[in-house]
Amino acid sequence: MTLSDSDDISHSVSAQDSQALPVAAALAIVRRWALPVAGVERVALHASLDRVLAEDVISPIDVPAHDNSAMDGYAFDGAMLAADAPVLPAEPAGSATRLTLLVAGEARAGHPFSGQIRQQECVRVMTGAPMPADCDTVVPQELVTCVEARIAFDAGRLARGANRRRAGEDLARGRPALAAGRVVRPADIGLVASLGVAEVAVRRRLRVAFFSTGDELRSVGEPLDAGCIYDSNRYTIAAMLSRLNVQACDLGIVRDDPDALEAAFRTAAHSADVVLSSGGVSVGDADFTRRMFEKLGDVAIWQLAMRPGRPLAFGRLWPGARNNGDCPALFFGLPGNPVAVMVTFYQIVREALLAMSGAQRGAPWQFTATATSPIKKRAGRTEYQRGIAVRESDGTWRVSPTRSQGSGVLSSMSEANCLIVLAHEQGDVAAGAPVEIMPFEGLI
Ligand code: AMP
Ligand code: MG
Repeated sequence: MTLSDSDDISHSVSAQDSQALPVAAALAIVRRWALPVAGVERVALHASLDRVLAEDVISPIDVPAHDNSAMDGYAFDGAMLAADAPVLPAEPAGSATRLTLLVAGEARAGHPFSGQIRQQECVRVMTGAPMPADCDTVVPQELVTCVEARIAFDAGRLARGANRRRAGEDLARGRPALAAGRVVRPADIGLVASLGVAEVAVRRRLRVAFFSTGDELRSVGEPLDAGCIYDSNRYTIAAMLSRLNVQACDLGIVRDDPDALEAAFRTAAHSADVVLSSGGVSVGDADFTRRMFEKLGDVAIWQLAMRPGRPLAFGRLWPGARNNGDCPALFFGLPGNPVAVMVTFYQIVREALLAMSGAQRGAPWQFTATATSPIKKRAGRTEYQRGIAVRESDGTWRVSPTRSQGSGVLSSMSEANCLIVLAHEQGDVAAGAPVEIMPFEGLI
């Protein structure tokens, strides 16, 4: 019998179930084996997007560098807000809390006021202007009445320190602005630029080699012979890898032939940190991947209690003889079915690649939605259905499984916008019941 992530929804417990590893246990093994690669390089800031920081970025300056105004208005000494502060004669006929100040000068962003204010004086300031000496409070221009060089406003509407941005309020000098392990995002690039830092230390990119296996596979551009199909897995894998910003090496299609497969395994393990193959991990007559991995590698996982993605090989692959000093690559033998390839990549491989890249990235987002229809689910394995989630007008989410859930039906992945994650112990789901969904946004 061939183990496969077949589409039938059997509620009977098969003989192989006892050997299939729960997803959580498999992830624990993968995490133990997926150690960050050594190797650090310095890159220009603008080239650091999606790279993994190898060191903390320490702020060499305070950002902002000086106290500055958060508003267009007038800066003054907030001590004058106190009830017993000396006041100019109120103008025109003000209340007890009305404060009148003389405008002594002006400051704009990049053009500080270099003079010194005296009692009952203020400085006209624009947003971002450095706070003049002895000023700690800004009254917004909307709150003042202005007559010639005098302004007046209701002091009761302001607290001391209002509308002033403090030096170092964004980032303090000497403190880590970004932590090692961070995957650099656009805001981070701006943030590092705001420190005046031109280069950052990043981990070297992970090298990932991948190939497809199967005599039936043809590459795009080749004629489709009788009984053959186009290889889609290599294209999906290349695209998924490029989102993770690894250095991907496409080794093409490998025939169902032990010698060809051994050569592919050795080349891949020699040149890459991680090797991914698809197909041939079941126990059919043409499933050579499995046999070759047993010969050349240390096997940690064969079968996962998940659907799709039941046959999945994971372990270490030696480029030459075992323990001859060569560094082994991590190996993932993904199933052949295209949906199973994607689901196992996102649930298992992705985490390993991030860990080996040195990335400290949280688990993908998951939240609760209401199932619109009943879902068959067998307890004892984690199932990932393709779902279409829609936000209701009341802010809640509902999710429907896509029409087909076949692990070979790739259009279901295109149609879906999330995975419905049905936990290991969970049984059938009734219509209207809550289910967990993992949105593709942010994941893929
Ligand atoms: P296997 O595990 O090799 O028996 O493959 C399982 C199913 O996935 C078979 O129907 C294969 O034809 C299909 N398959 C395997 N590799 C690919 C591929 N690279 N692209 C598309 N389908 C594939
Ligand atoms: Mg095959």
